[in-house]
Amino acid sequence: MTRPSLLDRLALQAQQRAQDDATRRLLTVEQRNGVRLQVDGRWLVSFAGNDYLGLSDHPGLVRALQRAAGESGVGSASSHLVCGHHRPHAQLEEAVAEWLGQPRALLFGSGYLANLGALQALLERDDLCLQDRLNHACLLDGARLSGAQLKRYPHADVDAAARQLGASPERAALIATDGVFSMDGDIAPLTELAQLAERESATLYIDDAHGVGVLGAQGRGSADHCGLAGHQALLQLVTLGKAIGSYGALVVGSEALIDAVLQRARSYVFTTALPPALAAAALTAVRLTRDGDALRERLGQNIDRFVAGAQQLSLPLLPSRSPIQPLLLGNNAAALAASLALRERGLWVPAIRPPTVPAGSARLRVSLSAAHSPDDIDALLDGLADCVPRHQGD
Ligand SMILES: *Cc1c(COP(=O)(O)O)cnc(C)c1O
Repeated sequence: MTRPSLLDRLALQAQQRAQDDATRRLLTVEQRNGVRLQVDGRWLVSFAGNDYLGLSDHPGLVRALQRAAGESGVGSASSHLVCGHHRPHAQLEEAVAEWLGQPRALLFGSGYLANLGALQALLERDDLCLQDRLNHACLLDGARLSGAQLKRYPHADVDAAARQLGASPERAALIATDGVFSMDGDIAPLTELAQLAERESATLYIDDAHGVGVLGAQGRGSADHCGLAGHQALLQLVTLGKAIGSYGALVVGSEALIDAVLQRARSYVFTTALPPALAAAALTAVRLTRDGDALRERLGQNIDRFVAGAQQLSLPLLPSRSPIQPLLLGNNAAALAASLALRERGLWVPAIRPPTVPAGSARLRVSLSAAHSPDDIDALLDGLADCVPRHQGD
């Protein structure tokens, strides 16, 4: 028997990807000025980032990072549980817990690590993990890592989730959902899911990567938006790399849940702590986010302007009122061609293809920020009018 060759297999897979217009390519940003990015010597207006409030290059944030690095250096030198946990980490955790009205928060290196760690820490082999079919990849990866039985319910279908839960009354259960769906922009039915979780003695985990900073009073996120503020049986993921404009993530919830995550999450225990200076900068970012109603208002105006314009042009919008505004094109080649045509016009709108989204639902993912001007939105609409196929009959 001859051993199959890894290299041969990779070559075949690369060939197949190229045939399917599914090859992913890196673009290098050479310079940046707010939402304007220079790529290959050319300035593009970006509608690709998740910097919804435009905080990622805020001067106050940059100063906080510089000052803190001057005081504490760059590296944290160790994991949190050895000697890497510094005062700025602790302050950041306290500030985020207080902001969300929850007892405790735990800081991870990134949202991906936090989801892997939290689900692996809380779930065991005989447990049930229910997930929305459109959840972010790292929630699925976390459930797989835990070894729990993973069941995916049709998008936003609480009745289906209830049936799946009801079929296994003997298993401890956790329901995990994106708060705002990252590729569709809609909000999960959190009120109903919280009721279901309560009725079934399950834990609800809301990954609020795209809700926090944007939705709810003081930007507290999708749980607050859905009337679940301060709900005690809730676990939430707050990522710092999107609306909050920095890097890292926190899992937020009760003392018991958070302590279990601290004790058991492998992606917490076995990794170097975030640089303390970055935690200090993130603390400044959290305050700017909490106090950022004016930014949220500007973002809301940009969303309204875009949706109104896109409806007038009969563009294939999905029903989203969040900064994530996908235009559904269907096949990979169409999404790629539209993205390239827009880039020719100085607009950066990424084509999102499977496996990030379900097969046959390739799309342009427009993502809006408070940092866009009304003229930027209008330029985008003009570009889309020329580069995107309209609804049939228009
Ligand atoms: C971006 C994202 C993550 C991962 O967060 P990072 O901090 O970027 O690792 C997790 N969940 C969702 C829904 C996301 O969109």
